[in-house]
Amino acid sequence: MWRSLQWIAVERFWPVPDKVLILGGTREAAQLARNLCEKGDEVITSLAGRTKEPAPLAGQTRIGGFGGAEKMAGWITENGITRLIDATHPFAVQISHNARIAARLADIPLEIRTRKPWQIQDGDNWQSVSGPVEAANAIPTKSRVLLALGSQHLSAFYHRDDVHFTVRMVDPPEQPLPFHSHTILAGKPSSHWRDEMQLLKDQNITHIVCRNSGGAGANAKIRAARELGLPVIMIGRPE
Ligand code: NAP
Repeated sequence: MWRSLQWIAVERFWPVPDKVLILGGTREAAQLARNLCEKGDEVITSLAGRTKEPAPLAGQTRIGGFGGAEKMAGWITENGITRLIDATHPFAVQISHNARIAARLADIPLEIRTRKPWQIQDGDNWQSVSGPVEAANAIPTKSRVLLALGSQHLSAFYHRDDVHFTVRMVDPPEQPLPFHSHTILAGKPSSHWRDEMQLLKDQNITHIVCRNSGGAGANAKIRAARELGLPVIMIGRPE
């Protein structure tokens, strides 16, 4: 009894830092890593490894899949993780599913920090669709489309030989993409809506195709589309 009271007193005045595993890959995860490091926690951010040269992160970084939920749980236990935070992209559903199982197996708390979806506002002209195939079918002929999707989803659009695509990608493709007509915009997009508006004008964009990822940074293109009255074909969240 006396010993537990002593521990409570010690932890209250000298809090024990957590060893935190952040499942990252988003701007919000990077910000969270900075905040927790400043607070004195030991932070490891896990990235899938999809981006060739990820921006440096506060704390440590590990890159690549764990090999499933059980292996993630093993990694958590071996590395003495005391807190697991899922701050992954809202369309990265497999890793979030694995995190729920791993937290249970490793018997540590899981915090979910997935971004909320954007809500339609006055002035928005959205057509909601359920996936890339539906989005490709919704594009009117002779459009000029800003395709702001992950590189894994481009093939659904290749057959649209009546459309010009401006394809946004963090890393330029290793092989030429089999679009009939396209322009590549490589690199991270601006998070300022005025930059995005200028880009939409420069590229003569008539439609945007994107996912409802949520978040402040990626919202710049949505705000720019609103300002210009451009239609957005919006892919909804996965179940
Ligand atoms: P996912 O389908 O949820 O995950 C597939 C596998 O990748 C996971 O089972 C895991 O492999 C590994 N993985 C994913 N995120 C990881 C992380 N943070 N740390 C370690 N391993 C991770 O995710 P995805 O294949 O990356 O992408 C699915 C969708 O999310 C795509 O539409 C993509 O554009 C979007 N997205 C993902 C990220 C990202 O950082 N993952 C960022 C932006 C957008 P194991 O089972 O081997 O552990």
